[in-house]
Amino acid sequence: MLYRLKESGYQAYLVGGGVRDMLLGREPKDFDVATNARPEEIKELFRSCHLIGRRFRLAHVRFGRDIIEVATFRALPVPGEEEGEAPGEDLHIENGRIMRDNIYGTVEEDAWRRDFTINSLYYNIADFSVVDYAGGLEDLQAGWIRLIGDPVQRYREDPVRMLRAVRFAAKLGFRIHPGTEAPLFELGYLLDDIPPARLFEEVLKLFLGGCAVETFELLRHYRLFQHLFPLTEEDLAQEHEGFPVKLVVRALANTDERIAADKPVTPAFLFAALLWGPMRRAIEEIRTESMTDFEAIQEAGGIVISRQAQRVALPKRYTLPMREIWAMQPRLTQISGKRPLSLLGHPRFRAAYDFLLLRGEAGEDVQELCEWWAAFQEVNADQRQAMLRSGVAGTAKKRRRRRRKKPAGAAEADMAAE
Ligand code: ATP
Ligand code: MG
Repeated sequence: MLYRLKESGYQAYLVGGGVRDMLLGREPKDFDVATNARPEEIKELFRSCHLIGRRFRLAHVRFGRDIIEVATFRALPVPGEEEGEAPGEDLHIENGRIMRDNIYGTVEEDAWRRDFTINSLYYNIADFSVVDYAGGLEDLQAGWIRLIGDPVQRYREDPVRMLRAVRFAAKLGFRIHPGTEAPLFELGYLLDDIPPARLFEEVLKLFLGGCAVETFELLRHYRLFQHLFPLTEEDLAQEHEGFPVKLVVRALANTDERIAADKPVTPAFLFAALLWGPMRRAIEEIRTESMTDFEAIQEAGGIVISRQAQRVALPKRYTLPMREIWAMQPRLTQISGKRPLSLLGHPRFRAAYDFLLLRGEAGEDVQELCEWWAAFQEVNADQRQAMLRSGVAGTAKKRRRRRRKKPAGAAEADMAAE
């Protein structure tokens, strides 16, 4: 690919995370290519090439199962030209802002518009050299995450860079350079203007990158987390005996362990856990005497999800399983009669049971239930019938009666259990 570009007389470099990870001796996730060939020219060279994007056209070139992104060198947008000027012929309006179209540039200009110095290293296949305009090699050595240019200005240009700083710091075990770090504490509010769909993509990268616990802690440290999950933050701030923090951290730690073991992870489970604290509060708030547990959970789920989705979009393919996981929690408290056997066959049983375990680990009063379900899955059919007859932990009704006698804090924990 690089050679084809080169032989056709173009400059071509590997750039971005692939080069960074390779130089660190880590396995690169993917490679991006930067070139002085224009998108149309790239398309002429490669049969399997698709041009994407409206404002900046990128070429996607397919190689077997991989897709390589090939971007033409771009320059920084010139300050003042982005806003307020009359549209010229190469300008157009996007999201109410006046944008300059396709400002192509040289490799050096391309280097300066990138986010961090360590992401701005170019690997030249012509002579196997690394081209470094921004001081990325030195920062890679020293372990610094450092923005190119004036940090405040760069964050204002694109506030998602704040999340990227945290993500790379956690993933690489690097420190954020003081000048790049200081504005993080102040500028979180800029994230409020980022479209929820983009934040959703970023949140997946933050929490499914294998370092979710560390990332979460950094996000809270820099007061960024509250702009992504305001309801969760509110709940974490009012922790009682560490409960909500424990649950969230356990869920993130499980995710990291699964990723390390190459097991699949479902964002739905993670979001269900992140929002469980807010769910418990919402249930308390809306619950009336005549409501069943199921109805209360359904209604609270609707409220919590629609409020959360104002910040971070939650696609239906995730909210449906989330709501099922929540809705199954009260059903799991019924451990006699026919219910348990039919629940075992429910497609969401495993996730709902794992969620119950998580709640138990975080200190909710569901240990007995967890044990019952663990045993119920282990034993044979006859033993199952015996378990259903004896109903060791009692039915949901009995539990509710018992709950009323408990002090307020414990009652709340139990309520969520039903
Ligand atoms: P990862 O390993 O997570 O893929 P990455 O550094 O490759 O990390 P990408 O999001 O794939 O990150 O972006 C590729 C490159 O594009 C980055 O290395 C950086 O040079 C540039 N880039 C990406 N996002 C931005 C941004 N918001 N501002 C400036 N440059 C960016
Ligand atoms: Mg990448």
